[in-house]
Amino acid sequence: MTAIVVLGSTNMDLVAYVGRAPRRGETVTGREFRTVPGGKGANQAVAAARAGGDVAMIGAVGADAFGRQLRHTLEASGVDTDLLHTAEGPSGTAHIVVDDEGGNAIVVVPGANGTVTALGPGDETLIAGAGSLLLQLELPLSVVVEGATAARRHGVRTVLTPAPARVLPPGLLAVTDLLIPNEHEATLLTGLTDPEAAAGALLAEVPEVVITLGARGCLYAHRNGARIRVPAPPVTAVDTTAAGDTFTGALAVALGEGRPVEQALRWASCAAALGVQREGASTSMPYRPEIDAEYT
Ligand code: ATP
Repeated sequence: MTAIVVLGSTNMDLVAYVGRAPRRGETVTGREFRTVPGGKGANQAVAAARAGGDVAMIGAVGADAFGRQLRHTLEASGVDTDLLHTAEGPSGTAHIVVDDEGGNAIVVVPGANGTVTALGPGDETLIAGAGSLLLQLELPLSVVVEGATAARRHGVRTVLTPAPARVLPPGLLAVTDLLIPNEHEATLLTGLTDPEAAAGALLAEVPEVVITLGARGCLYAHRNGARIRVPAPPVTAVDTTAAGDTFTGALAVALGEGRPVEQALRWASCAAALGVQREGASTSMPYRPEIDAEYT
């Protein structure tokens, strides 16, 4: 049995570092370029596998060098990629310009991710055997809804990260067990800026919510009235890219092991805090022994 299945995106992040971003029609010389394997789905899969989960990924990479690298990155962290298809055409890419003030501008081209419009042969069987299904919003929404609905049918816990922020398709929250927005996404979904109020409003739609609050930690809320506030470990952040994905992957592992919610939140916060102290997205994600050492 695979404990955690991720139905999500793979992207190669193409990052150019410049003094300032070019205006329309202008060419500027960058200072550095990096290719970084990413995509919210792949990031959550790597985070969960490194945290000790038995993880499989459903999605697609392109038939190109990026696709081979994305697949290798997942496998190197122990993610089962048997149902990660190789689609004709290019892999998903994110074209990112980071300026000297840390601001960024991003163009995402879905590529292979856009071909994942419906579950394929074997996908539902894999989901049915899992403990939880992790979903985000970087695949066509038709398959996100189909995957969550299949999981619900088989009694598998569905965990949705509503990112990148977009209008949710009808019915998705109705088949979501645990919703994990960051505070901006929580505000977009509810129109409320106060996390407590936003969590309360979201509980009308889903039974459990975790709102992540960056360096301020996270807030958990359950329909039964439970509220848990967990502060983030005080660390010096170097790069917070994919902090939320690290948190979600680790949280899914801890909850899957049956740990009490507060312990699971604290353990996931340790994982995310370790990640933000290092550069990179999936490359910065901690392995289980490091998380255990941080969790006291
Ligand atoms: P991203 O989009 O970069 O993946 P996010 O916006 O989804 O991140 P955040 O709310 O910024 O998610 O962070 C997720 C979790 O990571 C937080 O709840 C916290 O536990 C941890 N975290 C983020 N930033 C810091 C920080 N500066 N110091 C310690 N922990 C942090």
